[in-house]
Amino acid sequence: EGMTINELAKRCGESTSTIQNIIINVGERADSEFGALSIDIAELVAMEVGVNVRRLHSDEDAQILPRPPVVTVMGHVDHGKTSLLDALRQTSLAAKEAGGITQHLGAFVVGMQSGAPITFLDTPGHAAFSAMRARGAAVTDVVVLVVAADDGVMPQTLEAMSHAKAANVPIVVAINKCDKPDATPERVKVQLASEGLPLEEMGGDVQVVEVSATNKSGLDQLEEALLLQAELMDLKARINGPAQAYVVEARLDKGRGPLATAIVKAGTLVCGQHVVVGCEWGRIRSIRDMARKVIPQATPAMPVEIEGLKGLPMAGDDIVVVESEERARMLSEGRRKKHEKDRLLKLEEERQKISEAELEDTEEEETKSQRVEVPLIVKGDVQGTVQAVADSLRSLDSPQVYVKVIHAGVGPISQSDVDMAQACGACIVGFNVRDPPSSISLSATQAKIKIKLHRIIYHLLEDIGNLIVEKAPGTL
Ligand code: GDP
Repeated sequence: EGMTINELAKRCGESTSTIQNIIINVGERADSEFGALSIDIAELVAMEVGVNVRRLHSDEDAQILPRPPVVTVMGHVDHGKTSLLDALRQTSLAAKEAGGITQHLGAFVVGMQSGAPITFLDTPGHAAFSAMRARGAAVTDVVVLVVAADDGVMPQTLEAMSHAKAANVPIVVAINKCDKPDATPERVKVQLASEGLPLEEMGGDVQVVEVSATNKSGLDQLEEALLLQAELMDLKARINGPAQAYVVEARLDKGRGPLATAIVKAGTLVCGQHVVVGCEWGRIRSIRDMARKVIPQATPAMPVEIEGLKGLPMAGDDIVVVESEERARMLSEGRRKKHEKDRLLKLEEERQKISEAELEDTEEEETKSQRVEVPLIVKGDVQGTVQAVADSLRSLDSPQVYVKVIHAGVGPISQSDVDMAQACGACIVGFNVRDPPSSISLSATQAKIKIKLHRIIYHLLEDIGNLIVEKAPGTL
């Protein structure tokens, strides 16, 4: 209680103005550096700048317990990542409960019998791993590096090694396809060692397991190796208190709306809580485990499916628990604004680059300048429609007209859309979205920004077609 903006800035290692901006973004006043902030706001701000909230919590009641490891599978294409995950998934708890029926949900848990669970992320490959890491979601504790016993070390094997190294995540090697007659696991080991991977049997600390995804052999040994690795790492998490979690996958269900598979990093996520997820928000209506059973709460490393978000989040988005719906809304709006501001900056940078390049290429410049540019900002109810609308608008392109979708996003039309439209002289297109509040309509009118709302794609295209004719007579 009673922390000032100034103190908070110091504790977070950020400038006072950064902190003030965040506070304003969540809808609070930040006039004075020395005004007292409530614990609640201080926490929110700390989370926003990525400072571990636990420090701001009373550590006395924090209950720190061992937690299961979270594992990502990487390796060269065709070396058997998907097959290995499929084989493991069939041994998962969810599969057992569902009588062998399994579904890709972004994550699953195996090894409940032996008492020690392991959580596998279900999206193999480097892109997913990097994307998550780029968004600050360091969920993976251990990487399983899959190398085919017949093929050996390949370019993406090395790439996976450097990804793991950069992320400071230990590797357990799974030499796959050991059932094949031309399998030479020993040769693979020598290759890995010569690439600098310190294998255990050569005096290092990287475990190697020989497996076959096809025969489902070696899976137990792989699980044991992962548990041993986890034990060495002494993985622990705070299990009580507010949850910090990450989205590993999100999808839209016709009946239930946006669904996110999430993994809790710390604390306990409880049904009914208000959350901010990336730029989205909502109230958790239900939590299900990977067997689709409704459960009241989720603890660290446990993958769960949450329902109740207003929009579709992205893999890697963080989940933050907040006190009220109002706060959730404010924080997500603040994040969205920041997101769009960053986007706009990037856009401006790109545009600068392009115009520089254009200056260099005057011929190109001439053909470009003959085309009338029609800048648009597209907002829609869900990611799928936004994409579809943006694509069909681009189909209005012609040698004379260039339809430029400057920004396409999910959600209602916001003030920042209007700001962006003003900055680029764009028209705003809303598809299946509510009428914007009168304050936003008004500021759009004042800025002479057109807002076009439609629910039928044909009407939308017709309307924009007319706009194009207005801008470039005789082109359609
Ligand atoms: P990914 O690209 O790494 O995900 O590889 P996949 O899992 O798609 O596997 C590539 C090919 O290798 C497929 O045809 C699989 O059937 C085959 N494969 C995967 N694991 C094994 C294995 O343990 N033994 C054999 N013989 N073939 C395998």
